[in-house]
Amino acid sequence: MQILEKAPAKINLSLDVLHKRPDGFHEVEMVMTTVDLADRIELSLLSENEIRVESESRFVPNDERNLAYRAAQLIKNRYDVRKGVKIYIEKNIPVAAGLAGGSSDAAAVLRGVNRLWNLGLSLDELAVLGAEIGSDVSFCVYGGTALATGRGEKIQSIPAPPPCWVVLSKPTLGVSTQSVYQNLDVEKAEHPNTKAMVAALKNGDYREICTHVGNTLEGVTLEMHEEVGQIKELMSQAGADAVLMSGSGPTVFSLVEHDARAQRIYNSLKGFCTEVYMVRLLGYREPLDK
Ligand code: ATP
Repeated sequence: MQILEKAPAKINLSLDVLHKRPDGFHEVEMVMTTVDLADRIELSLLSENEIRVESESRFVPNDERNLAYRAAQLIKNRYDVRKGVKIYIEKNIPVAAGLAGGSSDAAAVLRGVNRLWNLGLSLDELAVLGAEIGSDVSFCVYGGTALATGRGEKIQSIPAPPPCWVVLSKPTLGVSTQSVYQNLDVEKAEHPNTKAMVAALKNGDYREICTHVGNTLEGVTLEMHEEVGQIKELMSQAGADAVLMSGSGPTVFSLVEHDARAQRIYNSLKGFCTEVYMVRLLGYREPLDK
């Protein structure tokens, strides 16, 4: 028996950091949506009591360091499962990019082993488990478009943005989320208007969505890596409707309504970066088992 799960990347339409909490986590407000750039996860039953991770990507660890491995291990221990699983990860999402690739793989494994091992858990139960693995995993369990609060694990579904293109560009550098947070001065940083973004989504108002994109972490990563600013500049010049860094970066995305303009942005970035993608926004919760 083999189970397939799609693990889509997310972008942050807005990301606000409110303050650092006594437990060391930051209190955040993030509006996230999925895009049609996805890893593909194949799960198959192992008769042995074993979790095995395989991937052709040299960036993906195959042991406990892999969030997908940790997801299988967590659920196996919590529900005392006496079966094994082989997890094959076809890696298409750039790694350490601000696109939650690892978190989405972990979420896909939670959904997948729930089916493979016949555990009958709800998505809400899987999302609670996901929060033990990482703050973005809960959102990734559901996909779609949502407001994430707390440290990112409290999820409220909101309507998807109107259909558009998303052009993503990742410079050849990895960004450590931890170091970005360490360099953040919450008082001095810019803060997006989360309420206005949520209202724009509820109204299906594309222009307002574009007006209110914002990311508190962007300034920190821009200071550390000038390529991020250069990509933003190129995308704006080529006519993007909105341009923003996703997560802690370094990936920058643009939202674009018109096909030809999206293609132009893609082409102009191709000369600058090797990793450029032109994909559709997914936004809505689709069946993720394909
Ligand atoms: P986020 O947006 O949630 O901060 P990210 O997109 O910046 O995440 P990931 O691609 O999830 O970052 O990877 C961050 C680190 O996690 C990498 O250094 C990688 O070694 C490790 N990692 C663990 N599991 C995975 C996985 N399944 N896929 C990719 N990276 C993984």
